[in-house]
Amino acid sequence: MDYETDVVVIGAGNAAMCAALAAQEQGARVIVLEKSPEQQKGGNTTYTHGSIRFAYEGVEDIRAIIPELDEEELKTVDFGSYSEEQYYEDMCRMTNYKTDPELASLLTSESFETMKWLTSHQIKFIPIYGRQAFKVDGIFKFWGGMILESVGGGHGLVEALHKRASDLGVQILYRTMAINLLQDDDGVQGVIVKEQGKTKVIRAKSVIIASGGFHANIEMRTKYLGPKWDTVHTRGSRYNTGEGIQMALDIGALSAGNWSMAHAVTGDRYLPDFQEGFQRLSYPFGVIVNTDGRRFLDEGADFRNYTYAKYGRRILEQKDGCAWQVFDGKVAHLLREEYKGRQVTKVKANTLEELADKMEGIDKAKFLQEISEYNKAINDAVSFNPNEKDGRGTTGLAVDKSNWANTIDTAPFEAYAVTCGITFTFGGLKINEQAEVQNTMYEKINGLYAAGEAAGGLFYENYPGGAGLMAGAVFGKIAGEQAGKFTSRNVVEQL
Ligand SMILES: Cc1cc2nc3c(=O)[nH]c(=O)nc-3n(C[C@H](O)[C@H](O)[C@H](O)COP(=O)(O)OP(=O)(O)OC[C@H]3O[C@@H](n4cnc5c(N)ncnc54)[C@H](O)[C@@H]3O)c2cc1C
Repeated sequence: MDYETDVVVIGAGNAAMCAALAAQEQGARVIVLEKSPEQQKGGNTTYTHGSIRFAYEGVEDIRAIIPELDEEELKTVDFGSYSEEQYYEDMCRMTNYKTDPELASLLTSESFETMKWLTSHQIKFIPIYGRQAFKVDGIFKFWGGMILESVGGGHGLVEALHKRASDLGVQILYRTMAINLLQDDDGVQGVIVKEQGKTKVIRAKSVIIASGGFHANIEMRTKYLGPKWDTVHTRGSRYNTGEGIQMALDIGALSAGNWSMAHAVTGDRYLPDFQEGFQRLSYPFGVIVNTDGRRFLDEGADFRNYTYAKYGRRILEQKDGCAWQVFDGKVAHLLREEYKGRQVTKVKANTLEELADKMEGIDKAKFLQEISEYNKAINDAVSFNPNEKDGRGTTGLAVDKSNWANTIDTAPFEAYAVTCGITFTFGGLKINEQAEVQNTMYEKINGLYAAGEAAGGLFYENYPGGAGLMAGAVFGKIAGEQAGKFTSRNVVEQL
């Protein structure tokens, strides 16, 4: 035996570090395993903006999370409210009512308490003014149920969680990959790892799998998501290759969730894998056309954070798996930060004809006809308002646009080449409300817990933005608490 501890956490992203902190709070000795070198720690969590979705009743709840909110600042902000019921309804609506009701219920009901718990561990949050609110008549009005992000984005969140864990005595082993679970008839007893190339044994009373999904494993992607998914752009961490899920399945764990679908967004057609800044998410204010020049989805079906996770898949279905997002001069100021900068594949022109000439592979005649028909179909009796589902849509088109429809007729015109990028996978391990991993006899596997992307059942087909970090925090915390308690129970039983 090379190490001996109470709780081993596999992974060092958000779910894992929340689990580590919660287990440590129970008095357990905790070892965290991170497959990557220290500089690349934190998995997909590092790549996020840190946007996190939780239920809140109003500004007092926000103050409980950000006590330093300035009175002057508050005069210019309308946070609105987002109840547990709305959150739960969003989980149901987004997943076509397939989300696991018990897990979704816990996610939504524990979200606010978990935010407060995170702040008690010195994790800091700020309002997401830039991306989740537009200033209209001097007021930032938030939309889409998501209002806060971690200070410093995903990097900041990972650094803060790691600092807190180290301060509290959690041991973190870098370049250490879990490869197998140790188990006997009493349950899981530890992990076999490769630590900097050497095989070692870590004996533990319980193991928490928080090692993410399999979005960076091309073979698993093709096997479970299907043809073409091997070719899509890979976002986020290169280390989420599914071993955590696989090692649990190998000892009889039950799978759960939507294995044939994933969170996949629309982003730059030519950026290399794993590069930050891939996504292009201002499409509600323009149109998306395929190389036949045709629109194929409702860009304004809902707020961006309710559609972006499923629209990548729709791009992949198009010829060559690519498309163009098109905007005109009227909405250029609404485009997100990611549309600026050098690593952006875009063309610009003063007329739509010239623009079409520059859009590689596009059927020019059909594109011009499509835009002309789209322009004529807009109900301009309704005013445009980016902060609300304004109902300014089209009628009579093969694919109507429901909100934020503006004519595309004002120079300069811009078109952005986009493709599909996979963010994370939805399929994982079956857990119960204590985050205990279930086996195929529908019983818990003693001493084995899972949280974050490694656990399946919450997300199907689509996903409300910000729910990934919240799910990791809620179920990571539960897993850590339960694993810590299981450890102390075991100790008492052995005395
Ligand atoms: C670009 C991008 C932006 C996103 N933006 C947001 C956002 O703003 N808000 C939001 O809620 N969600 C967002 N998401 C989704 C979010 O990142 C995930 O839902 C969440 O971070 C998953 O947390 P996790 O702890 O389960 O996994 P991760 O954070 O991915 O952590 C997995 C960890 O396991 C490690 N690991 C993997 N295999 C092993 C092994 N065998 N042994 C040891 N360690 C292993 C990895 O190195 C990593 O440390 C985004 C994702 C991406 C890629």
